[in-house]
Amino acid sequence: MAKVLVIADIKNGALGSSTTELLSKAKAIGAETAVVAIGSGIDGLIPNLAGAGSDTQYVADDDSLAMFSAGPFAACVVDAANQFGADMVWFGFSESGKAAAPRVAAQLDVACATDITDVILDGDQIAIVRPAIANKVMQRVKINTAKMVAVIRAGAFEATEGITGSENVVKLTAPEADLKAVIKEILTDASGDIDLADADIVVSVGRGAKNQEGVDMVKGLADDLKAGFGSSRAMVDGGFMPHNKQVGQTGKIVAPTLYMAFGISGAIQHIAGMSGAKVILAVNKDPEAPIFNLADYGIVGDLFEVVPILREEIKKV
Ligand code: FAD
Repeated sequence: MAKVLVIADIKNGALGSSTTELLSKAKAIGAETAVVAIGSGIDGLIPNLAGAGSDTQYVADDDSLAMFSAGPFAACVVDAANQFGADMVWFGFSESGKAAAPRVAAQLDVACATDITDVILDGDQIAIVRPAIANKVMQRVKINTAKMVAVIRAGAFEATEGITGSENVVKLTAPEADLKAVIKEILTDASGDIDLADADIVVSVGRGAKNQEGVDMVKGLADDLKAGFGSSRAMVDGGFMPHNKQVGQTGKIVAPTLYMAFGISGAIQHIAGMSGAKVILAVNKDPEAPIFNLADYGIVGDLFEVVPILREEIKKV
């Protein structure tokens, strides 16, 4: 039976949804599952970790681990992977995951694959699936090492209802401080906006909004819906939106329940960042805009007329 170690996604003391999604998939492929939780004051999360579907919980709980730092974080993961005898180590697609995964792979001397949308086990042979050429093709890649580290795309796997694990806690010793890099403070999005990666709804704005006034109008809708606010690259290049809000191939990859695109044409590089959304609504005045090929719901119209109507209707709900 393959052994899968999932990295718990812990933010502000709470367990992120990717942990349950990854554990659900690991169970679905018949693996023995373990989770590694790293942080400070996280003991209270142990029942949740077991409830999310892990059979063993490796817990590194120490003041020195309160702030993410790739070196000590990777050391804890390597320790857990060795103790568990993990065949696969799965990270979610977070900034910390992307920073720590290559270190873990190098220290374990195994393959590292990123942006994965599926994992297939055929006997002992591991294969992964991931999009390539801006999502135009899906690659199936055979992994040549017997073990691997994987960074899984947000929303790639569904959380399964009724999944169970068992409480079997192994405490890890906190590693020595990494003197090469000491994290003093982590600044969250200074705007106070909802993080795109965590948002259940993402409202995105494109060149159709024309100027800052248009952007602010669409942002009003995002605020009404308590949604994350993203944009196409055109609006970032135009100086209307910061780069950390760009959705797409060279921006963030999001997989919310609802993605709302306003004045976005649907270029392949934009679609690469949002095609994993469960439901897509597009508003565009051009009925031939490519975004409508992907959208579940489309409104052909001027966003300057549609957005105020939507805001009025939402207020009534
Ligand atoms: P446009 O393509 O100009 O579309 C604007 C849309 O608004 C049109 O469809 C128009 O009909 C509609 N519109 C106009 N006025 C209105 C109105 N009043 N009401 C309603 N609709 C209206 N792009 C990304 O988004 N993310 C990326 O990560 C990214 N990475 C890239 C990487 C590379 C290497 C390259 C070459 C490009 C990349 N791009 C990326 C750019 C991408 O190719 C497109 O240029 C960009 O996505 C277009 O943004 P847009 O849809 O806002 O603008």
